[in-house]
Amino acid sequence: MADAAIKLGSELKTAFFDKVKGLLPEEGHLNLCLTCGACSSGCPATGQDDMDPRKFLRMAAMGLDEEVTTTPWVWHCTMCTRCVYVCPMQINIPQLVYRARQMWPEEEKPRGIVQSCKAAMLSDATSSMGAYPEDFIESVEETVEKVREEQRGYTDLKIDMDRKGAKYFLNQNSREPMTEPDEMVPLWKIMHAAGADWTYGSLGWAAENYCMFAASEEEWEKIVRTKAKAVDDLGCEYWLNTE
Ligand code: SF4
Ligand code: SF4
Repeated sequence: MADAAIKLGSELKTAFFDKVKGLLPEEGHLNLCLTCGACSSGCPATGQDDMDPRKFLRMAAMGLDEEVTTTPWVWHCTMCTRCVYVCPMQINIPQLVYRARQMWPEEEKPRGIVQSCKAAMLSDATSSMGAYPEDFIESVEETVEKVREEQRGYTDLKIDMDRKGAKYFLNQNSREPMTEPDEMVPLWKIMHAAGADWTYGSLGWAAENYCMFAASEEEWEKIVRTKAKAVDDLGCEYWLNTE
């Protein structure tokens, strides 16, 4: 199949493409595009701002640096990686999107994403809503108490916080404990029914990481390290990230 690939960018001035090739593992296979369109067919961002992943990749490969580093389309990409899974050449378009996002001036990036990243840096909770460890503890305690009182069959429901040696460390999206605490309950019931040995952590509990979406590399890494340390400090075997 590789023989059928169209080689792009070989004789063009492709500053962005060349830079990205050097940054991606195995050069991201970016020059192996078959133009089959499989990436675009199921992409949730296809059609937004007159762009789709195939078009974006080909524009990058053809050296249209100005266009690929300024198109607002990159902010529609959800980083779902569906395009990577369906691509016969395993071309990693979201990594290309990430690099394009990095080239945007901070003040021109979508405000909501940047602010969420900043909020996550406020404490080791890593919450993009700026919630603190005690906010999470309080929300979980209040919600589990309500379930025990109101729901038949769950009077013995127990939710552990910071239990050392639990097998699973579970993360939770901030939106749930902070705005829709009842949304945590279905997962509790599943873990309860399965008899799972799990705990929440009061540190690193927030599952989301908006610094990845903001393409803020240092902050992204700091958040991942904070979460991983929280798991290690409790000696948990598995980290279940619900995002
Ligand atoms: S799925 Fe892969 S090979 Fe096909 S058009 Fe998209 S990037 Fe190119
Ligand atoms: S990672 Fe981005 S480009 Fe790829 S399918 Fe998802 S939204 Fe589309």
